[in-house]
Amino acid sequence: MKLLLTTLLSKYIHSSLALPTIAAACAKVPGLGIVIREHTVNERPADILRSLISEDADVAAFSCYIWNIEQTLRLSAEMKLLNPGLFVIFGGPEASYGSHDLMSAHPHIDAIVHGEGEDTMAEMMQLLVASSGSAIPDDRLSELQGITFRSGDEIITTGARLNSDSLDSSPSPFATGLADLSKPLVYIETSRGCPFSCAFCLSSIENGVRTFSFPRIEQDLEILMEHGVETIKFVDRTFNYDAGRANRIWEFILTHNRKSRFHFEIAADLLTDENLTLLKRVPDNTFRFEIGVQSIAAETLDIVGRKTDLERLFANVERLQEETGITMHLDLVAGLPGEDFDGFVRSLERLIAVKPHHIQVEPLKLLKGTAMRKIARERNYTFSPFPPYRILNTPWLTFGDVCRIEDCSEALEEIYNSGRFETSLEMVAQHHALTPLFTLWSPSKSKGSRLSVIFEQFLNHLKKVFPGLTESIIEPLRFDYCMNGHPGHSLPSFLKGKDEPEAGLIRPASQKEIAKRLSLARESRFRTFSARFARDYSTAGWPEGDFRITFIYCSSGKILHLVERVLM
Ligand code: SF4
Repeated sequence: MKLLLTTLLSKYIHSSLALPTIAAACAKVPGLGIVIREHTVNERPADILRSLISEDADVAAFSCYIWNIEQTLRLSAEMKLLNPGLFVIFGGPEASYGSHDLMSAHPHIDAIVHGEGEDTMAEMMQLLVASSGSAIPDDRLSELQGITFRSGDEIITTGARLNSDSLDSSPSPFATGLADLSKPLVYIETSRGCPFSCAFCLSSIENGVRTFSFPRIEQDLEILMEHGVETIKFVDRTFNYDAGRANRIWEFILTHNRKSRFHFEIAADLLTDENLTLLKRVPDNTFRFEIGVQSIAAETLDIVGRKTDLERLFANVERLQEETGITMHLDLVAGLPGEDFDGFVRSLERLIAVKPHHIQVEPLKLLKGTAMRKIARERNYTFSPFPPYRILNTPWLTFGDVCRIEDCSEALEEIYNSGRFETSLEMVAQHHALTPLFTLWSPSKSKGSRLSVIFEQFLNHLKKVFPGLTESIIEPLRFDYCMNGHPGHSLPSFLKGKDEPEAGLIRPASQKEIAKRLSLARESRFRTFSARFARDYSTAGWPEGDFRITFIYCSSGKILHLVERVLM
C-alpha cells in the first residue's frame, strides 16, 4: 500500500515539517510505502495534479492551512475523479476545526485527522493496510480517536484524542532522514503549545506547553547545524516560555553552531537578566527574534486575553537593540476589539520608535476554532467567510480603514523592511515622524522592479507626504541607491545634485589599490562605482566634507565602500 503525504507550501524556500513528522510516525507500519511530495501554491494546478497522480498512490493525505485549503480542495477532488479508489485524508489546522461541515460540502474527502496527527495517522494506516484495499469496517474506524469519517451517508466524529505527554515518542524527522534539508530554511520544533491564551490565535486552544527532552532537541539541532542549513526556524509558539530552558538551548547553539542562522518567536517581556547576558554573546546576524506586540492598548489586549507586560517588553527590546547583534522583527495585529485607526497608528508609532529591523502589520484574521470568532459575533464584526477569513469591518474600523491598514502593511514592506532606504529614512526622521510615510501610501498600479523606478517612486512619495522636504534628501537617497547594487554607468538624473553633474563619473581608485586597501584576497572579483558626496554617510554622525565614496560590489554579493576626502 502506498501513502502519499503532500501539501501546498506558501513559498518555495522552506519545506514542511508536518509531512516528515507524520512520515516518521507511519514508517513503523509494516507493508506501507510512503512518499512525500511538496508543491507550492504558485505552481500551475495542472502540473501539480499531473505530478501527484503519477505517484499512483492508494492513500493521499493533505496538510491544510489557510493559504492552501481552497487549492487543496480542488486538487484532491480532481485526484479522486481520476482515481475513485483513492482514500483521501485531510489534516492540519484548516481541516481540524469544522471537519463535519467540510466533509458534508466535499464528498470526496474520506476522513479528517484532528490535531496532532502522528499516532492517529499511524493507526489509520495500520487499519488501511490490514483491510488490504477494501473499505475499513466502520466499527474499526469508530474506535480510532481524533478523526471524522464517513459511514454510509453519515459523517461521524470520534472522541478527542489526548495528546501524548512525551513528545519524544514521536520519532525525529531529522534522525530518520525524512526531512528535506536542501532548502534555505528548515523548521524545527522543540515544544508544542503556548502558556498564553490570546483569543485570536490557534495556539491558545491547546492547554499548556509540552517540550521535547534536551537530548532529543540537541540531537536534532546537531543534525541541522552539521548539515549546514542556512536558516533554522523554531516553530515553538513562545520559545522562551521557560527562561532556563531557552538559555540552555541558546548555549548549545552558541557552542555547536557552524554557520547557520536561527529564527525564534519570543515573548520579550519574559526575557530575564540571565537571558540578556547570554544573548550579548550571539554573533551579529545569527539570531532573529520575532516579537508579537499586537497592540499597545492595554484594554484591547485585556479583551482578547493577551497577557503582556508592555513596559517590560519595550525595555527589553531596547536592551536587545543596544546590547546585542540580534535582528528584531516586531508584529502588530490591526482590528482587535476597541482599536480604531488612530489607535492602530499609535501602536505603529510606538514600534517605529524602537527602530526594529522589521515591522509586520497584519489585519486580524478570524481563524476557525479560535475564541475570537465568539467575540466577533458578540461585537458585530464582519469578516470574510473564505480563507484567510480577513476582517472586512469592525465597530471601530470601516472597510476603508482596513484597506488603509493593508496599504500601510505594503508600505512597510517596500520602504522599511526592504532595507533599501536606510540612510534616507534616517535623514527624514531627523525632521519628521516616519509614520505618515506608511499610513499615507497608495500602492502603485505600475509596480516597477527596476531600482531606478522604485527610487523615483519613493522620492515622489516623500515629496508628497513631506512637501517641505528639501533637496538635502537627494544625497542620502543617492547613497542608498549605490548600496543596493551597481548603478551601471551613471546615476539616474533625479539622483544627481544640481551642481554635481559629474556624480558617478569620478574616476575610481584602481582595482589593485582597492584590493590592497581593503585587504581583499588577490583573486577577489569585484566591480566598482564612485560618486561624490558632501557627507560621509558610512560613518556615524555623517561628517561633512567633500568625499569620493567608492562602492565595491563583490562577486559574493557583499557591498563594501572606500571613503576618501577630495582635496582641492
Ligand atoms: S499569540 Fe503568541 S502568545 Fe498568544 S496564544 Fe498565540 S502563540 Fe501564544
